[in-house]
Amino acid sequence: SRTNESLMQRRIAAVPRGVGQIHPIFAEHARNCSVVDVEGREYIDFAGGIAVLNTGHLHPKVVEAVQRQLHKLSHTCFQVLAYEPYVELCEKLNARVPGDFAKKTLLVSTGSEAVENAVKIARAATGRTGVIAFTSAYHGRTLMTLALTGKKVPYAAGMGLLPGGVFRARYPSALHGIDVAEALASVERVFKNDAEPRDIAAILVEPVQGEGGFNVAPPEFMRGLRAICDRHGILLIADEVQTGAGRTGTFFAMEQMGVAADLTAFAKSIAGGFPLAGVCGRAEPMDAIAPGGLGGTYAGSPLACAAALAVLEVFEEERLLERARDIGARLSEGLRAIQGRHPSIVEVRGLGAMVAMELCEGGDPHKPATALTGQLVVRARDKGLILLSCGAYGNVLRFLMPLTVPDELLERGLAILAECFDELA
Ligand code: PMP
Repeated sequence: SRTNESLMQRRIAAVPRGVGQIHPIFAEHARNCSVVDVEGREYIDFAGGIAVLNTGHLHPKVVEAVQRQLHKLSHTCFQVLAYEPYVELCEKLNARVPGDFAKKTLLVSTGSEAVENAVKIARAATGRTGVIAFTSAYHGRTLMTLALTGKKVPYAAGMGLLPGGVFRARYPSALHGIDVAEALASVERVFKNDAEPRDIAAILVEPVQGEGGFNVAPPEFMRGLRAICDRHGILLIADEVQTGAGRTGTFFAMEQMGVAADLTAFAKSIAGGFPLAGVCGRAEPMDAIAPGGLGGTYAGSPLACAAALAVLEVFEEERLLERARDIGARLSEGLRAIQGRHPSIVEVRGLGAMVAMELCEGGDPHKPATALTGQLVVRARDKGLILLSCGAYGNVLRFLMPLTVPDELLERGLAILAECFDELA
């Protein structure tokens, strides 16, 4: 019979172990904020496929748009025969991405590809090769993005040295004693120790770090990076792969940072569960690469473009940005209530509905409670709640439920989480 366990055995035999799996569960079907496994057990989904389902599983409007597109065509390859949904989506994103300047948009399929292409574009536009990225950054698993990612175990372990020209500065964290001045000084130290500004094409930054622990960049930090970039002709790239598509209460998190990036990478929730990503940026650098230098066979698939156009409409119709702010407020309140009873929770932080809690032994920020975090994830799953951890030491619980989550499920999920803390912490 098809049980989670029997499927797990087949998976282990057929799929390399490098493809990890957080929950030993095989999903059968899902709708909005609920997933049902192959054994018929229902779960509340606070993971959203890692920030991909801001509009929920199979939003009816997204499904309808994809079905409509399926009756027309599923593939031509945009570089062979173009189609309108690609262009329409780029027009909409050019208007929507922060920055009061002419923009152009490139579509690809994954977040890693988006970041890789942003770096290629910055290199072509500046004639320079270096990139500055930050501690605890996550930008992907392809070779260049792996070099940019600031966590080598497990992502790069055993794979040897990575592409060069990547320099690491510090991401601010009040909890861990890295203030904005120190973070900006660490960029200047790269210029002094590692590579001169004239060799740096881009500074790449997540406005809120995702995998790194939901660390929120203070706006002064972004303004400081913007000033450094302007001073030296460096392009500022915002990786909004996890923060984008409404998670933080604005469609892009940079809207809350007071400055615009030159290039913005987006992916995940932009297409409501279909593979789509891209780079939107200043028209001039976006045009730095000659015809043929950008694109891909499936890049900007018509089905994914149709889904993304529907996602944009759903955000308007269901006022999901407002909903993101409400969910964020309720979530923070609920998590703080749990924090009041459990000193292992050293911080509840976030922006909009991108909210997380960091767990440390005895409340000491120097002692990440990695094991406890893992136990909480397992216990919550046993009680029917799917959670994800993140952070440099896997000691941060993050919450990425659909913004379409019914209040009742949000409350039930919070209640389960509180129960898990009472039992384990
Ligand atoms: N950048 C950020 C900020 C991400 O969170 C991720 C995915 N977790 C990526 C890039 C890579 O995206 P993908 O897995 O679609 O390649």
